[in-house]
Amino acid sequence: MPASASLLDSLHAPTLLWLAVVVMVAAAAIMSLFGLTHRVYRGYRWWMLAMWLAALGGGLQMLRGVWPAAVVPGNLLLLVWPMLIVTGLRRFFSRGPLSGSSTTDALVFVGAYLLWFVTWALPELQSWRTYAYSTAMMLLHLYAAAFVLVLPELRRSPSLRTLFCVMLAQAVLPILRLSWHLATDTPVQSALTLLSPMVIVATLVAMLFAVYLCLALTHERTETDLKESQRQLRVLADIDMLTQVPNRRHFEELAAAALTQSSQARAVVMLFDIDHFKAINDSRGHAVGDVALKRVARSARDTLRSRDVLGRLGGDEFIALLPGASVDDALHAAERIARRLEQECSQNGDLHLGLSFGVVKIESGESLESAQHRADLALYEAKRQGRRRAVPATREGGDTVFGESRRLGLNGES
Ligand code: GH3
Ligand code: MG
Repeated sequence: MPASASLLDSLHAPTLLWLAVVVMVAAAAIMSLFGLTHRVYRGYRWWMLAMWLAALGGGLQMLRGVWPAAVVPGNLLLLVWPMLIVTGLRRFFSRGPLSGSSTTDALVFVGAYLLWFVTWALPELQSWRTYAYSTAMMLLHLYAAAFVLVLPELRRSPSLRTLFCVMLAQAVLPILRLSWHLATDTPVQSALTLLSPMVIVATLVAMLFAVYLCLALTHERTETDLKESQRQLRVLADIDMLTQVPNRRHFEELAAAALTQSSQARAVVMLFDIDHFKAINDSRGHAVGDVALKRVARSARDTLRSRDVLGRLGGDEFIALLPGASVDDALHAAERIARRLEQECSQNGDLHLGLSFGVVKIESGESLESAQHRADLALYEAKRQGRRRAVPATREGGDTVFGESRRLGLNGES
């Protein structure tokens, strides 16, 4: 026998069992306290119940000397432990696909319990009682381990992987114990042998570990939910919900980052706005106006390159930063956006939307804000010249000089 096993077996089993029950009650109480004072998820109550029932089962085992029949409910409560953990996991992960069902769990449990109960009820099978109990324990823990193993969350959750190992160890333990008895030719005669110090200590350690893992799973879920809420909040703070493009503040963040990263010094700012948008709102209603805004955003998003930054400044005004592009590239991009928008409108046959653009190259040392101001002047000039056009603007001395405008789309002046 290994030294550790002989050391454990030299301990007084009834005292150890008494201590184990006290520790289990304390663990169940801590779980309950945590459940009452913290946000917990579906399934947590089943894990709490598993701990309380295991403690009660241990308590009943202590009474077997004075009341032998206590072994029946006592073992029932100890056997139900892995199944209650599985039931808790079923509830906890109920959002995703799960193998089997609660009915399968119940049938496996009833089958395993009957396996042991029959040997207890029939006195002539008394010597088989321990083998049957060990087998039932092994089956139920193996079932729980298999359930954990096929959970889709297993890859992402270190707690689940540890729980799988705990369940597997619990399945192997009674079998190892019996094998040792058989190998050393000391067949187990009494179910009491099962409550040897080694088994009590190992079961207690596994149960405490499981308590920790249930709390760790709860913590993991809280962290995941928190990250998801933060992500949603960030989206709400950064993205214009109507058009799904970055809002002004986020555009400025992204543009600043793009300008810092851009190895080429040149970048172009393009400001654009729907022509006569007020008239669309007034004649067709705000909902149709919203459709128009979404179409403009989609046309721009689908046309621009992935490294270009698009944003909605507010109202019907949009902005794009094109890192590494020339003014001519930007005028081509404006042309493609306007054509794409026209195509979509003619396919739907409902709206006629025109766009006007102000296009400027960011001069070296010029701030984004200053370039945006010049683009605004160029856009105003595009409107003044009759709309549906893009006007480039350069800076000469302290003045803004407009270049030759480019007519956009198929219809020219609106
Ligand atoms: P211009 O050709 O000179 O651009 O004239 P315009 O009629 O388009 O005038 P302007 O660009 O100033 O119009 C902006 C309008 O956009 C005013 C406002 O009622 C409308 N608007 C602002 N935000 C929204 C929105 O979220 N949805 C809708 N449907 N309309 C909006
Ligand atoms: Mg407008």
